[in-house]
Amino acid sequence: MTKVEEFLTPVEEKEIISAIRIAEKNTSGEIRIHIETSSKTAHYERALEVFQLLKMDNTKDANAVLIYVAVKDKKFVIYGDKGINNVVEKNFWDTTKEVIQNHFKNGNFKQGIVDGILKAGEELQSHFPWQTDDEDELSNEISKG
Ligand code: CA
Ligand code: CA
Repeated sequence: MTKVEEFLTPVEEKEIISAIRIAEKNTSGEIRIHIETSSKTAHYERALEVFQLLKMDNTKDANAVLIYVAVKDKKFVIYGDKGINNVVEKNFWDTTKEVIQNHFKNGNFKQGIVDGILKAGEELQSHFPWQTDDEDELSNEISKG
């Protein structure tokens, strides 16, 4: 199981996209998923690069979150924009990371991503509640590298 296409079935992809939709009903924050096979550069650096490539640094409140997954490397990074980092405590993403890690350890990749998205949405809610004039600023589709 190394290629992105083998990593998630079309049904699983739909589940992930609907998790993003559900999460974004609670928060003005924008959540995106990027999945690729592996990265030659350090995963954190690569996540930052993808964040910029996807123009995620362009939201109104600078509150976009990227969950980056390198399938073959069995690594993931949660990268939040400045607006989030300015108002949250240092280990803000720890619970979300734990949720994902526990599922990944057991080989439940799809569930790890789905639950990670939902958890991230809950965590963001207190700092960035959903607003009536909220817009879906970033696509909910899965980005593939
Ligand atoms: Ca939004
Ligand atoms: Ca969105």
